[in-house]
Amino acid sequence: MEFDHSLTPGSELGTGEAMHAFMGELFPFNRSLTGEGVRSTLAALGRRLPLSVVETPTGTQVFDWSVPPEWNVREAWIETPDGARIADFAESNLHLLGYSVPVDATLSLGELRDHLFTHPDPELVPYRTAYWARRWGFCMSRRQLEELREGTYRVHIDATLEPGSLSYGELAIAGRDEQEFLLTTYVCHPSLANDNLSGIVVLAALAEALSAQPLRYSYRFLWSPGTLGPLCWLHNNLDRLDRVEHGLVVSCLGDPGAFTYKRSRRGADIDAAAEYALSASGLAHAIRSWTPLGGDERQFCSPGFDLPVGAFSRSPADAFPEYHSSADNLDFVRPEALLESLQMLLRIVEVVERNETYVNRTPYGEPQLGRRGLYRPVGGESSSEGALLWVLNLSDGSRSLLDIAQQSGLPLEELRSAADALEENELVERVTRAGLEQPSGR
Ligand code: ZN
Repeated sequence: MEFDHSLTPGSELGTGEAMHAFMGELFPFNRSLTGEGVRSTLAALGRRLPLSVVETPTGTQVFDWSVPPEWNVREAWIETPDGARIADFAESNLHLLGYSVPVDATLSLGELRDHLFTHPDPELVPYRTAYWARRWGFCMSRRQLEELREGTYRVHIDATLEPGSLSYGELAIAGRDEQEFLLTTYVCHPSLANDNLSGIVVLAALAEALSAQPLRYSYRFLWSPGTLGPLCWLHNNLDRLDRVEHGLVVSCLGDPGAFTYKRSRRGADIDAAAEYALSASGLAHAIRSWTPLGGDERQFCSPGFDLPVGAFSRSPADAFPEYHSSADNLDFVRPEALLESLQMLLRIVEVVERNETYVNRTPYGEPQLGRRGLYRPVGGESSSEGALLWVLNLSDGSRSLLDIAQQSGLPLEELRSAADALEENELVERVTRAGLEQPSGR
């Protein structure tokens, strides 16, 4: 049985509506770098997938970083001189500056203003954090700020910053090979839909779909708070990073924008696979070169690790106006965009699963194909004489079927059918990481 990128009937998250509904369930949690909001999110994933949650205690040294105190919030609000409660955390967790220290104080409007954050759009509440500074603050719309009158304000933040841990969730799906495909996203944004929840639910749906498939690679899924989460995972897995043969950091998968693929730092098969899948889909997309700016790929592709990890999104995080604001809500994310993103990821996985590299075993002249019955459709209708000749000619152990697809313009499926037929006839041999494989003889 071979990998099939069509969605398995009955997979619970296999529709745009189901993923969107799961986002609605996760939306209220107060996700941050640490804390109960992250754990609630991982617990919700854990009810669908056999996830393990890994905790790294406060104070643990992780490369150049140290896990900070755990942040949890009970309530937070501002009371106006009229006694009205505004910027209430209970209404939206975006109102509270992430990692605010506890405070209960009265102060003038002038003093309060130093702790208030607004968005360039006067109607929107921004999303702001201060993980590494001991401070407090509130976020509100500029319109609301402009309406505040002089007088005495009370601010109340009932929060704790105490020894605890950073939590990430990990899921392994075993394939035939030990070599792994790493799929990862962040879980540190509070009530924001596209920039965060879309990636969380699409990866969950992908994990569910892959669990029901025969797989060549093993798959490892990671849901972790941004930057420090991947660093904790890398730190915990230093002795097994050489198993990572392909990787994708995913984010922002529910907006109506076109797909964007950002190449890995080192250049890798995942780049060729993603670019092939996107191009073959005929859908609008953009390919970006590696830059050291962006999301968690900055850690996976830092020079010491330099893993073969690219980044996959629709509109990149900073390229849609709703980014990091109250407008990035459940209405902004489209079920059909979530589904299309899931289908594209499945297609990329399929390309990775189907790609192989071969060596021509009879490179001196062309082998006589007619004698072997290969001069007619073999291995399915898509196999053609042209594909046989391309595979024979370019299979020198260094060029994969994806490389041959790029050079020949032939579809990967057709080249793979040709390669299967040639392999059956012992005319090519598959190259594995360890070297040449024995002819399969199947
Ligand atoms: Zn973000």
